[in-house]
Amino acid sequence: MTQYAIETPPVVALPVAGQETLFPVRRIYCIGRNYAAHAIEMGHDPDREDPFFFQKNPDNLDPSGRFPYPPKTSDVHHEAEMLVALKSGGRNISVSSALDHVFGYGLALDMTRRDLQGIAKKAGRPWEIGKAFEHSAPCGPVHPVSDVGHLDAGRVELKVNGEVRQEGDLNQMIWKVPEMISYLSEYFELAPGDVILSGTPSGVGPVEKGDTLDLSIEGLGSLTVSVV
Ligand code: MN
Repeated sequence: MTQYAIETPPVVALPVAGQETLFPVRRIYCIGRNYAAHAIEMGHDPDREDPFFFQKNPDNLDPSGRFPYPPKTSDVHHEAEMLVALKSGGRNISVSSALDHVFGYGLALDMTRRDLQGIAKKAGRPWEIGKAFEHSAPCGPVHPVSDVGHLDAGRVELKVNGEVRQEGDLNQMIWKVPEMISYLSEYFELAPGDVILSGTPSGVGPVEKGDTLDLSIEGLGSLTVSVV
């Protein structure tokens, strides 16, 4: 039996809707500026250029329904996103076969310390300090494809304290799910347990302690997160 030199870190795993099993997470890839209206609101050209990705840490995923307001920031933004969970991977996956690798879909928030991200962008530094902090990816359970099918259209909505702040449709994604998987697989070797956050529609904005966030995606139900 293997002996580890220190206590082993826990396996990060998400609940699977309707099952007793858990979905173990290996990596998180997040796509940036994947909805034209959001690219415009962030001051960028919405023309279809190559997608870009950043990563969060697997243990940033938090299905607890609570988002502790993080330190060292005064401008934390919500970004409503769809989570894509992979059951298999590989390199150089074709667009036409990409969906065969999807285990399921879920709801997630790409919470962002926008002030720290802004400083990093201006200085040409990496984004982790703005994106990859503790509890920065509140999420719901993974809904297996066998239950919900593949989602290429459907309303995305985020309410803050009952008021609609973000709305869009999955069919507005500049890079569709099969294209994201294919593109990523040219640069990385994808593997079972990898998760993709597929970008956010326009309307991102700040949250405060005490806020209640309600995210819904047509076909995937809803997720409520309290900012504490
Ligand atoms: Mn995002």
